[in-house]
Amino acid sequence: MNSGKLNKLQTFLIATDKHRTWFVLFTIFILPSMYILVYLTDGTKNVYAHLTYIIIVFAGATLGFFGGLITGLAAGIMLGPFMPLDVANQIPQTFLNWSFRMLMFTFLGGLIGYITDTLRKSARIVLDLMCHNSETGLPNVNLLNNPDALSYDERNQMLITLLINNFDKIIDLMGLEVYYSLLRRIYEILRDGLPETALIVQCNNNKFWMATPLERPEEDIKKITAILKEGITIENVEYYIEFSLGYTFALNQKQSYRPGAFEKSDHAARYAQKNNLQYMLYRDDIKRGIFEAKLLADFTRALAGDELFLAYQPKVHLKTDKYDYLEALIRWNHPERGLLMPNDFIPLIEETQLIHELTEWVLRRVIEKIRELRKENYDVTISLNISVKNILDKNVVRRLAEIIDNNRDVVNNIEFEIMETILMETIDDTLETIEMYRNLGVAFAIDDFGKGYSSLSYLHRLPVECVKIDRGFTRNLTHDEASQKILQMVIGLCHALNYRVVIEGVEDETTAAIAKNLESDYAQGFYFARPIECGKILDWLKNKNRETSA
Ligand code: C2E
Ligand code: CA
Ligand code: CA
Repeated sequence: MNSGKLNKLQTFLIATDKHRTWFVLFTIFILPSMYILVYLTDGTKNVYAHLTYIIIVFAGATLGFFGGLITGLAAGIMLGPFMPLDVANQIPQTFLNWSFRMLMFTFLGGLIGYITDTLRKSARIVLDLMCHNSETGLPNVNLLNNPDALSYDERNQMLITLLINNFDKIIDLMGLEVYYSLLRRIYEILRDGLPETALIVQCNNNKFWMATPLERPEEDIKKITAILKEGITIENVEYYIEFSLGYTFALNQKQSYRPGAFEKSDHAARYAQKNNLQYMLYRDDIKRGIFEAKLLADFTRALAGDELFLAYQPKVHLKTDKYDYLEALIRWNHPERGLLMPNDFIPLIEETQLIHELTEWVLRRVIEKIRELRKENYDVTISLNISVKNILDKNVVRRLAEIIDNNRDVVNNIEFEIMETILMETIDDTLETIEMYRNLGVAFAIDDFGKGYSSLSYLHRLPVECVKIDRGFTRNLTHDEASQKILQMVIGLCHALNYRVVIEGVEDETTAAIAKNLESDYAQGFYFARPIECGKILDWLKNKNRETSA
């Protein structure tokens, strides 16, 4: 059914509900008027009494079964014993005459009312079906066309689009039924998290739209992000959804809930999805791609200037409590936008040749840092993130190899981190290059292990020295024994294969203790240390050293 027909259906239902009082008052007023008309036109012997049928049909159609029945009965009584056949001569009607008419009026009123009630009931069922998704039973976009379903102040709204990015993976893995249950759970979670008057609809299989009163937009977005990041349990299995949120504000717009209004939040959500961001506020420039073009131009300038810097996040050796292993993480101090984190720009940079220059820039800084720390008697290994795009480009591979070759004294302290999912997708084309670098003395770590479809069967074939367990895995450890067991097995397997193990994303003491218990070699995470600015890392190491030797 198209929205026009749906609208008519709603108008039909809503109009009669809304104006019921008026219809009752009108009927109460018109019935005596009818009595007076018939009386003044000389009684029932003339044809005017038949006009009453119009009133009875009207009452039945607007007031339903009982309304029609009562109106028919009242009209029958009025035009019955109280109405002469001939007024001028005061001749009364026969009993048969008026009682039969009364019966006919009552029957007609009841019948029309009954038919209307049945029609309205069916229309409500159709409307209800139309406004809910047939698979999940959740409210759908048709609800937006139903102004009566919306009880909120519709003028100042925050409109939000939620995209579920890994929906196809979940469906492949668990099937549609489980996925639908997951959508229902997401709906409930959003319902609980947002203000009561918020409107939430399932737009399609991987998209929700929300309209919520514009009170504390930033907080609301952060709250939704936080609750969606938590695992969702369906039939004792915990799922993690990957999602992107886009949002925009609709101010003083009477019809902010119309589907067209969500175009902007959709744009912002797609932008967030493309750029690996958790959420994004709509801006005109992202729609036109100006934002990206400008950022790329700015990045070229940043590479040449001093806007980029590295932060080093220490990893702790769990047996000795020593911090002899760091990860270099890029930061961008943008003159207009402020401090940008990698997720704000790396995905965009990775689509261009600039990613090669970035990796080269990071590698040079890392080499300098290793030397600088060595001078201070800290022999640390520093890992840096390398994009698979770098390894697939022959010129870049050669350039990086030259840099490494020219710095042989530190080569054994360098490690490249490469993301598991991407590595596995390209292993045939990258293996040779990785082996070449390893022969030069550089180590490799597989990053975010466990984020994709980790298969233990290929673990022994990985061309790496180190496996970094993804932080998505780590956050389950404290409350999920099954995860601990799996991790224990993975760590055992890694050790049997001579890989070093780093557990990422350790945020609390309990998780740290579990990581130690499971005999992970290293742990990395906010509990031990946040990424530390390049200028401060030496002092940090010195401090730590003092603490451990004290
Ligand atoms: P990653 O390689 O997985 O890096 C770890 C990220 O997790 C860092 O975010 C770090 O700040 C964060 N992290 C560390 N401990 C914890 C913790 O306990 N809890 C939580 N929630 N997070 C923690 P950051 O610096 O924003 O980096 C994000 C990603 O950007 C990195 O993920 C990496 O894939 C990429 N990246 C960073 N620097 C570079 C770079 O120089 N080159 C390339 N190609 N990618 C980079
Ligand atoms: Ca990394
Ligand atoms: Ca990682």
